[in-house]
Amino acid sequence: MKKSLIINNLEFAQKKQKLADSFAVSDLTRLAEVLAPHDKNIRPATIHFELTGVCKQFSQPGLHLRIKTELPVICQRCLDEMLISIDLSFDYLISDTTIDALDDNDEMDWLEADNEMNLQELIEDELLLAMPLAPAHEENCSKSSMQSGEKPNPFAVLKGKIK
Ligand SMILES: [Zn+2]
Repeated sequence: MKKSLIINNLEFAQKKQKLADSFAVSDLTRLAEVLAPHDKNIRPATIHFELTGVCKQFSQPGLHLRIKTELPVICQRCLDEMLISIDLSFDYLISDTTIDALDDNDEMDWLEADNEMNLQELIEDELLLAMPLAPAHEENCSKSSMQSGEKPNPFAVLKGKIK
């Protein structure tokens, strides 16, 4: 793993640092398990991210994280591979007290101050949470002409998969 993906999150925020980088989705082993198996004909998916340290006077230091990628998944209707576009933004506040002691009623996400925060793990966690449970083509689905109420016969689907 790239060294630059381990950061001191509090210092990063206080110094208002910026980091824009990318890495291969295959580096994220937990995420790779929920994606379509890698097809050698398609270039491997890349995850792009941008991290910005935010620190205003008299307010809590924070981080802004943007994640952009396209991930291969299996359409749950036609069982073909499809790409989903992901564009996520997160705002975190960093606290040097333990998270339990903080009021968790509000909408902000908290990160504990950590001089070795693993950015890649944070990105993987956020992507796992953002993955749709049952992805399906919005258009051009090969099963989209199906009459409503008609269900695919699972055995017919299986038969089509075995050659
Ligand atoms: Zn489909």
